Amino acid sequence: MDLNGIVCLISGSSRGIGRATALMLADAGCDIAVNYVSNAGAAESVVEAIKKKGRRAIAYKADVGRKEETDRMVDQAIEAFGPIQILVNNAGITRDRSFMKLSAEHWREVLLVNLDGAFNLTSRLLPQMVESRWGRVINMSSIVAQMGNFGQTNYAVAKGGLIAFTKTLAREVARKGITVNAVAPGFIDTDMTAVLPEQALDTVRKLTPMDRLGTADEVAVAVRFLADPCASFITGQVINVNGGMYM
Ligand code: NAP
Repeated sequence: MDLNGIVCLISGSSRGIGRATALMLADAGCDIAVNYVSNAGAAESVVEAIKKKGRRAIAYKADVGRKEETDRMVDQAIEAFGPIQILVNNAGITRDRSFMKLSAEHWREVLLVNLDGAFNLTSRLLPQMVESRWGRVINMSSIVAQMGNFGQTNYAVAKGGLIAFTKTLAREVARKGITVNAVAPGFIDTDMTAVLPEQALDTVRKLTPMDRLGTADEVAVAVRFLADPCASFITGQVINVNGGMYM
């Protein structure tokens, strides 16, 4: 039940859920390629925390929506660490607007980061996983893909796309020792939800049987579970981490 020495790349791991996942997988024995797009300081602090745990870590700046940047990051990470066998497609953004007010730019931007980002990284890393006949791809979806949410057509489409991607890719690589799963968090206390008005957060709490937001660690533990070598008969699944908001 351990991941000693296995290399993991986590997109968007400078903050929030990605950061918590990086620290938890490091505790399990992984070396971590940390990715960020603008917060170098936050990414470096994750690297330092991982090194203190006795694992290797390097921070890479790359916009996951830009293939040339993800290709460069993956190449540099493989050179530094060796083969990468766990990929967590976690980087995500929101650009909330009701559909009538949604610009084509905000539509595209959200799809680029949340959905194209997963394509860019997975397509680059999968051949290596196939070659070593072991791998884990874990995609960060959202409860919004399952329930919809006012003002988030762009985000819901991207996160729904990730679930479809998960199930389809899982079938394609099932015989190659690679599992592909998704985690669908409900509302989690991170910078992403910190911008929501208090009234909206109150509504979220009311709609959540546990009457609270989740923590980044409570999501990270689902990723940790799916990454485990023993989780080898679980593929194409969506694990909900939402305090019961969607059952
Ligand atoms: P967060 O606190 O806003 O952190 C976002 C992370 O993604 C940061 O590390 C950020 O890097 C990185 N990032 C953003 N755009 C990027 C890009 N173009 N390329 C590479 N990295 C990028 O978000 P979070 O709440 O932890 O969310 C993590 C994932 O969970 C996202 O996919 C989100 O959609 C999903 N999710 C979150 C919730 C929630 O309630 N929080 C619920 C469901 C699903 P910088 O630090 O450099 O900006």
